Amino acid sequence: MLILSSSSEDLCTCSRLLKNGDIVAIPTETVYGLAANALDGDAVKKIFLAKGRPADNPLIIHISDISSFSEYCFPTESAYRLAEKFWPGPLTMILPKKPVVPDIVTAGLSSVAVRMPSHPTAHKIVSLCGFPLAAPSANISGKPSPTRFEHIINDLSQNEYVSAAVNGGNCECGVESTVVSLVSEKPCLLRPGAITVEMLRQVLPDLTVADAVLQRLPKNEKALSPGLMHKHYAPDAETVCLTGSADSALRYIKKRDTGKKTIVICFDGEEDVFSDYFTIPYGSPNKPETLAENVFAALRSADAEKGCELIYVRCAPPEREGLAVYNRLLRASDFTVIDTEECL
Ligand code: AMP
Ligand code: MG
Repeated sequence: MLILSSSSEDLCTCSRLLKNGDIVAIPTETVYGLAANALDGDAVKKIFLAKGRPADNPLIIHISDISSFSEYCFPTESAYRLAEKFWPGPLTMILPKKPVVPDIVTAGLSSVAVRMPSHPTAHKIVSLCGFPLAAPSANISGKPSPTRFEHIINDLSQNEYVSAAVNGGNCECGVESTVVSLVSEKPCLLRPGAITVEMLRQVLPDLTVADAVLQRLPKNEKALSPGLMHKHYAPDAETVCLTGSADSALRYIKKRDTGKKTIVICFDGEEDVFSDYFTIPYGSPNKPETLAENVFAALRSADAEKGCELIYVRCAPPEREGLAVYNRLLRASDFTVIDTEECL
């Protein structure tokens, strides 16, 4: 895997590889993405192979200017209003697809997911290419998403399908884009992200939130977004989320301590409370955007600790940017959230 910087010369190399049908890991403001020419079905196939991604989980396509929006889908009036307010930025819209988008990108659906990233490097790569980039998160399917360049090196440097990776430092948001469907009867939030429900409702007052954002769907129920059905973001070690105060979380952990190597991903300033355990602070619940920025890096660091068997994560309420963090932690822990105040 060729390592590239964000210099003009390296970004030209990156776009040349993409034009050639290769796949490249690129930084975005959400998480690192694994990019291919969205209009080249053979190139897109390599993304699925490199990630081990199930073929029924469609990809987001990334554009760099509003004039190309209607080349790949049929934008509604609401879509243009959302674009005006939130693009470029971490918002993905689901709209009816145009035939130019290959079926492999949309997993055969009649809709397509479109986003315009704000990260200057991602923006430059898309505009140099002159075609949209299909780019899912660059993790191996099921694992925590990559938000630091070292995550890309760890996960992909030996991956036979990936030709290059562009180093863009740390990702600002740290969680994947907000996904809104505009093909359902009412606009519907499918995946929470840095653009919050409150922000979206300023443009779309009738926005609903899909059940799957905060609940495990029954096996026979079809998800509005196929990605919500798959195991996701999960460390190798057993992961348990804890709500309540730090003291009650500590009591809960102590009571169940069976000598397993345990790591506590805690809020900033709680390291002393959990001093009997290895701690990884990941931000402040008063500033949920800090939790979002660090959540995947913290899950990865915990898992990388030698002999790690059990990870506890302090979990903030599912509000504002905290909804995105809660949604990812639900899946990372296979929906194991304990209210430690109730459960002592
Ligand atoms: P990722 O590429 O890893 O950020 O995941 C993209 C997310 O967008 C997944 O949850 C997909 O299921 C969802 N998605 C992509 N295209 C569509 C679509 N046409 N309809 C509904 N959800 C979609
Ligand atoms: Mg993903």
